[in-house]
Amino acid sequence: MSNNWKLDAEGSRFLTAADTIAREVIQPLAATVDKEGRFPQENIEALRKAGLLGLVSAKKVGGQGQGLRAAVAVAERLARECPSTAMIVMMHYAATAVIEQHGTESIRKAVAEGGKLTTLAFSETGSRSHFWVPVSTAEKKPDGVRLNATKQLITSAGKCDFYVWSSKPAAAEGLSTIWAVPADAKGLTIPKPFDGLGLRGNGSAPITARDVLIPESNRLGEDGKGFDVMMGTVMPYFSLQNCAVSLGMMQGAFARAVHHVTNSQYSYDGSKIADLPQVRGHIAKMRVKIDLVGGFLLDALDAIEQQREDAVLRVLESKVAGAETSLEVHDLAMRVCGGAAFRKDVGVERFFRDSRAATVMAPVSDALYEFIGKAACGMPVF
Ligand SMILES: Cc1cc2nc3c(=O)[nH]c(=O)nc-3n(C[C@H](O)[C@H](O)[C@H](O)COP(=O)(O)OP(=O)(O)OC[C@H]3O[C@@H](n4cnc5c(N)ncnc54)[C@H](O)[C@@H]3O)c2cc1C
Repeated sequence: MSNNWKLDAEGSRFLTAADTIAREVIQPLAATVDKEGRFPQENIEALRKAGLLGLVSAKKVGGQGQGLRAAVAVAERLARECPSTAMIVMMHYAATAVIEQHGTESIRKAVAEGGKLTTLAFSETGSRSHFWVPVSTAEKKPDGVRLNATKQLITSAGKCDFYVWSSKPAAAEGLSTIWAVPADAKGLTIPKPFDGLGLRGNGSAPITARDVLIPESNRLGEDGKGFDVMMGTVMPYFSLQNCAVSLGMMQGAFARAVHHVTNSQYSYDGSKIADLPQVRGHIAKMRVKIDLVGGFLLDALDAIEQQREDAVLRVLESKVAGAETSLEVHDLAMRVCGGAAFRKDVGVERFFRDSRAATVMAPVSDALYEFIGKAACGMPVF
């Protein structure tokens, strides 16, 4: 597969492996995953077998030693077929980045070598999309740390092995603390399964923690310094990959829309939908918007890697750029495919539904516009 992402030779090999799995395993299952709203375990197994769950873990703990650029490329490729799977994987990479930076060697190895799946468990019913102010608690006890929480919508809930989990600090001042919580810890329950409008396969269920005891060594970063972890490590991985998933969805919907308009005929004169100049105009608009996001994402990667002055702005912009452009592109994909787009076999409506999530995933687009607006006006962002 072509490598527009400027990956090194090893990164390119992993992208090629992801491309093969996307074509041979993920694509054939995508409609079923959506219809049944079931977790795509087969896809995750195939990615695990290819070593792709260890993509962003360091080589010395058994991972592949790649970074954000490769994660973005893989997430984008998977999203062209099954955005649910792409979202599971991108949450795993974002959570792994935190584990890599702050986790114990045994947890890092479990993820890197053992292929354990992880996710971000930040959102709570109490603080909703304002994940930076968790209301759930952590208490120091003689035998560890006791967690209590009502988490709101957590990708891969009950299907992963570790949650990268936020709470109020245990003892220190500050907004939050981050923990690695084993998914089989006693006291964790999933009160109801996910039955969503879109991303129906990604298992985004609520999670309740009642007196869950974990070792204090599972703390990821300093007590009370969760905000720094969220902004320094999670945000670049989450925002750019979220943009990548939006980009992959747009590419997926675009390919299917073009296929439909170039193959569907008006039998009275043999013309195709694509013979209508208005339709070609909409297709062109989609192409331009998709390529703008693709170019933007490459620049955001460069900004981070080169530690450019605008890197923080690019991080804030990337999720909202992908999410909001994706809403427009998916609207156009539905429009050019007409009433046929309401049928599942055309393949566009699944992407249309899936595309709705990015805007309301925290940080929500409206909050990001507020942060970017403050930065542009020279005001403090937080
Ligand atoms: C498919 C899916 C998967 C998810 N996976 C995860 C996951 O793995 N981990 C996780 O932690 N969470 C996850 N979430 C939760 C997500 O990150 C958000 O917390 C959640 O979607 C916010 O919904 P809410 O109803 O609580 O939003 P609310 O906070 O109630 O916001 C509603 C609306 O109010 C406005 N608004 C809110 N805050 C602001 C603000 N500061 N400035 C301006 N306007 C604002 C916006 O218009 C926003 O859309 C997932 C959500 C979805 C839909």
